[in-house]
Amino acid sequence: MPVSPWQRRIRRAQELASEHSFAAEILGFYIHIARFQEDLHKRLSIALQSAPASVDRGLTEPELSELSAKLQSFLSLAETRGPKALAQLSRELHARGLDFCRELLDRGWTARSTSDAEGLLAQAFLQPYAELLRSRAALRPVPTAHALCPFCNRKPVLTVLRPMGDGGARSLICSFCLAEWEFRRIVCPGCGEEDDKKLAVFTASDFDYIRVECCDACKTYVKTIDLTKNGRAEPLVDELASSPLDLWAREHGYAKLQNNLLGM
Ligand SMILES: [Zn+2]
Ligand SMILES: [Zn+2]
Repeated sequence: MPVSPWQRRIRRAQELASEHSFAAEILGFYIHIARFQEDLHKRLSIALQSAPASVDRGLTEPELSELSAKLQSFLSLAETRGPKALAQLSRELHARGLDFCRELLDRGWTARSTSDAEGLLAQAFLQPYAELLRSRAALRPVPTAHALCPFCNRKPVLTVLRPMGDGGARSLICSFCLAEWEFRRIVCPGCGEEDDKKLAVFTASDFDYIRVECCDACKTYVKTIDLTKNGRAEPLVDELASSPLDLWAREHGYAKLQNNLLGM
C-alpha cells in the first residue's frame, strides 16, 4: 500500500523529534494533528463528493454541518494535546458551542490572510479540506513571479528547492491548500524585490539545508527547504521543527511572510 503524505510527515516528525529535543513538544502535537487531518480528509472526500471545487466562495450548508461537527473533535484534541496557550484557546472556543464554531469556520474559510490565533486554528482545521478541493481542480497557470496561490490566493508558508539539472528549481507552497507553484530564484515573494543585494540568505549549522531568505526592502522572510541538500526533508515538518531560525529572523527585525498553521 502506498504511504500517504500524512504518514510520511508523521514519520519525519518522529525522526526530527528524536534529533532535536527543543522541537519534540511541538512535533508531538503535530503528529496528533496529522493523524486527525488524514482521517478528516478521508471522511470529507466521501461525505462531500459533490462540493464545488473552489474555495473562493462561502461554505455551503452541507459543508458547514459536516465541518462544524468535526471541528468540535479537533478542538478537544487541541485542548488535551496542544501546547498550553493553544489548549487554553481551544477550551474557550469549544465552550462557545456549535453556532460559534460555524461562524469561526466561515471566517477561517473566507479570510485571505490570518495572523490571529483563532483564525489560524480554524485554518489549521480547514486545511485538509482546502487541499481536497484543490486536488479536484485544475490549477491555473501563473507567471513565475506570482506570489499568491493560484488556487486559493493565500500567501505561501514556505519555499522549496527541488533538484533540477545542476541546481535547484524554486517553488512556493501555499499555507492553506498546499498547492505548489514555480517561482523565480532571486525574487522576494513578499514585495517582488529583485536586487540580490537586498535579498540576504542565512543558514544555521543545525539546519544546514534550510535557508532563511530575508528581504531588506519589505523586511519579511520566508524559509526555504533545500531538497537538493536533504532529500529526506518533508518541507512542512522541517519548517515546523526549525523554529530557532524563526526566532533568529525575528530578533533581526524580519517578520514572517506567513505564519505556519501552528501559529509560528
Ligand atoms: Zn492555496
Ligand atoms: Zn520583499
